[in-house]
Amino acid sequence: MPLDFHRDLTINGHTIPNTEWTAGMNYPAERRWTNGWGATIEVPAIIELLELVQAGKATLEDVKDELTNVANTITQQHDDGLGISNDDRCFGDCDKCEARKPEVLARYARFRTNAAKARDPQYTHIVSGSSVHLPTCRHVKEAARFREPDDADIAMAVRGLAHDGYLLGTEHTPVTAEELAVWRAERTGPRGGHQYRPCKTCQPTLP
Ligand SMILES: [Zn+2]
Ligand SMILES: [Zn+2]
Repeated sequence: MPLDFHRDLTINGHTIPNTEWTAGMNYPAERRWTNGWGATIEVPAIIELLELVQAGKATLEDVKDELTNVANTITQQHDDGLGISNDDRCFGDCDKCEARKPEVLARYARFRTNAAKARDPQYTHIVSGSSVHLPTCRHVKEAARFREPDDADIAMAVRGLAHDGYLLGTEHTPVTAEELAVWRAERTGPRGGHQYRPCKTCQPTLP
């Protein structure tokens, strides 16, 4: 969540009081390794800083140092003293992410296949977790909807999985009558106990 900060800037003995800063927003990947990434400052304060340089009262080095220092302080404060880590700077393209990308692509591929099957009348039921549904059930109707992910979607999903352990979406798998029989057999104990249940909403009849 973005937070506001107010800071007096001191450059070579000159003070620009009460400048407005924000930390905790999303910033462009292009500058993720540049000092100050993760912080924003109001434009008028920048103009005043430039005017100081223009008037010969401060050097560009002074301005750069002060902006860097304040940015570092507020991003640390925003992040409970932790500051911005390399994880924070990842846009789904670090080594950790690259390693998990195949899983995400495989999951999207299953979603794509499931959507096609969900529109095929050969697939009479949809299994999800330990439940069996009819394809029309509201709990699983999203199985039929699949939007091709773009690069940004994939990067976000990979990042979520690699850094935060977030798994993308729920898997609803359409099955044919034969596949359902196998699926049920695999979930039936030696004494006939079932590790699955027909959904209470759509109440599918199980042969
Ligand atoms: Zn990453
Ligand atoms: Zn259902």
